[in-house]
Amino acid sequence: MTEPVSPLLPLLSWQHLSLHAAFTTRPLLTNLTGEVRSGEILAVMGPSGSGKSTLLTLLNRMRSATSGSIVMQGKPLSSYPIPQLRRQIAYLPQQAVLFPGTVADNLTVGCRLWQIPCDVPGWLAHVDLDPAIAEQSASTLSGGQAQRLALARTLALEPTVLLLDEPTSALDGPTALDIERLIQNWVAAKERAVIWVTHDPHQAERIASRLLRIEAGQQAFLGKPGDTWGGTRS
Ligand code: ADP
Ligand code: MG
Repeated sequence: MTEPVSPLLPLLSWQHLSLHAAFTTRPLLTNLTGEVRSGEILAVMGPSGSGKSTLLTLLNRMRSATSGSIVMQGKPLSSYPIPQLRRQIAYLPQQAVLFPGTVADNLTVGCRLWQIPCDVPGWLAHVDLDPAIAEQSASTLSGGQAQRLALARTLALEPTVLLLDEPTSALDGPTALDIERLIQNWVAAKERAVIWVTHDPHQAERIASRLLRIEAGQQAFLGKPGDTWGGTRS
């Protein structure tokens, strides 16, 4: 769906982002600057309440920054229509949000909206779900199966940037590793990037091309894993 991406441009970049909220004098985010380029996974870490999820909400305009700018492939984020933007910068929450209906209904909902084809058995197999469950009620899925389905539904819309908010924190270890592998394969395949909030330093070290650490809304560290940050704090 997207125009060819110039390899010279970051897929998504943000400059001097700050967010003030009326209900508190302390800014929720202060002067964050960063980018993701093709093939990268940026892991976002920091204590609970430090602003990690808030940053994701700014990056696909679920919220607007008080100041600063966000640029996607050389154009301001504000120049993209919101539906296209949310498709191109897709958000996957910690727990899958499924609606009543079958597995196939849930998988194809976005494709039907955008009127694009969706290979149901192919996508189910891709996320290691048995294609035979396509007509089963989505309410029968385990947490791990539901998250695989939500991931397939998101990837079927061919996003460029994936925003992940602790997508494996409610899953068992082997399922979490499977999801990591799926996302690592996805990001390596085309002009794509991932911004992945995780509280697990071991996960961050496994998946991250670069790490961003946020503390009290401020950028405490941005660099390669192992550069100066030890990786032992969550
Ligand atoms: P994290 O994801 O790092 O745990 P969040 O981004 O969810 O942190 O939240 C950062 C801070 O902003 C927290 O102190 C949270 O309470 C506050 N916050 C964010 N949005 C709102 C809101 N709409 N109303 C009240 N507090 C909010
Ligand atoms: Mg959060």
